[in-house]
Amino acid sequence: MNGIDAVVFALVDSNVKSVTGVPGFPITELMDAAMEKLRSEWSINEKVALDMALGSSVCGQRSAVITKHVGMNVLADPLVSSTTHTIGAGVVIIAGDDPGIEKSQNEQDSRFYGLVAEVPVFDPDCPQTAYQCIIDAFVLSEKTSAPVIIRITDRMLKTIGDFTRVNASVPTAGFDKKMWHLTMKGKHQRFHKTSYPLMCGYSENSRLNTIARRGKVGIISSGFSSHIVDFVIPDDISHLSLAAVNPLPMELVKSFVQGHERILVVEETEPVIEKQLSGVLGKLTGHMPYGKTEAEDIKNALGNIGRDTVSRDIVPQTIQKRGARPICDNCPYLPLYNAVKETGVPVAGDVGCVILASSPPLSLIDAAYSLGGAISTASGFDRKGIALIGDFGLAHSGINGLVNAVHNRHNVVVVVLQNEVSAMTGGQPVPDLTGLVSSYIRDTQVIDMDGGLPDLKKLLAEKLEKKGISVILARGKCPVY
Ligand code: SF4
Repeated sequence: MNGIDAVVFALVDSNVKSVTGVPGFPITELMDAAMEKLRSEWSINEKVALDMALGSSVCGQRSAVITKHVGMNVLADPLVSSTTHTIGAGVVIIAGDDPGIEKSQNEQDSRFYGLVAEVPVFDPDCPQTAYQCIIDAFVLSEKTSAPVIIRITDRMLKTIGDFTRVNASVPTAGFDKKMWHLTMKGKHQRFHKTSYPLMCGYSENSRLNTIARRGKVGIISSGFSSHIVDFVIPDDISHLSLAAVNPLPMELVKSFVQGHERILVVEETEPVIEKQLSGVLGKLTGHMPYGKTEAEDIKNALGNIGRDTVSRDIVPQTIQKRGARPICDNCPYLPLYNAVKETGVPVAGDVGCVILASSPPLSLIDAAYSLGGAISTASGFDRKGIALIGDFGLAHSGINGLVNAVHNRHNVVVVVLQNEVSAMTGGQPVPDLTGLVSSYIRDTQVIDMDGGLPDLKKLLAEKLEKKGISVILARGKCPVY
């Protein structure tokens, strides 16, 4: 058994009726495993996934959302509102972080969303804790009438370990329409009067936060970092291992800190716990690096435990050092990429396979900020440029940018790489939006990358000459999926 099994069985044992999610590292495999045991579906985007989970909750059915960390940005809107709006049956969001950025566009820390939305966050270190966190999370979600976040990482999911299954619990709550009697201000007041104290009470007393008192130096850790700490610390160093990290159990933490002369905080990815404390050592003092925790980092930090600050020479990683991740040699879109490069106009990219065209030898893309963002970014250019977007990016949120571009009369050539799969995340199917796009945009042209291609350079030049929005739907078959 591993962390993936623990999460899936915890969802099953919690009587979850619906799982929604969006593919991406490190949660694709987890979602695939959930799909074998639970009613699950890949959603078009993370906001849709959470909106749907909330709908299930209203009808008294427990639901879970599985997303990578960047998806937390997309679902943040209903997440923050649902906390004060209140929910019905439990909703748990499993957020897969990527410390070390193996396969992501950034290295953000999902635990911060607990502080933003004022919802409980669990950060399990191993399969057993992950299982128990999810079991507790559904009960807590119903008690506090708010979603709960479980932060996981690839290493936690892949860790081998047993877990003890418990008898299924059942939802205790349906949605109570009485909350509509409150104003928006009243809802937030109700939250702070009733829900937030319950969250704090849970954190302070959770059996999932464990303490080993052993000496004058103590470590506070959470998540997979706790797992590593347990392996490396000497016998004379104390350890407070936190799984319930938001709200931070302040009384527990204070009592631990007071009993020690030096405290080191070990956590992935950002100093979320450390920033809430004073007089401790960690990332902010240079003792620990940002991002992924390694055993060597903890040993080095303990070696410097007598110092108040440690100078850390950060050398930003280059593509040359890491190694390039170029477009596949047999990608059907290579002729199109080459033609786009020759236009000399600004090019906004997306974070699907298109992002691979940003590196040499193509070096094609000027900027690529978010999944689905290419059309809106190109709408901000000072001249007619090109938006290169995958069909998953278009369905995810790019379609909003397209509607906005037409509505506000922008000038953009939109090139959609329409291979009907999300190739970057494992080949999940993508809806065909040809009918929708061609009925909305008069200047829509379908081309086939696998045969009968027009002169691409001439085609792009013609579209760039025209005013308004031009769409090229470039159909091609990805040889990988
Ligand atoms: S995975 Fe498919 S679509 Fe992506 S670069 Fe490779 S061949 Fe092209």
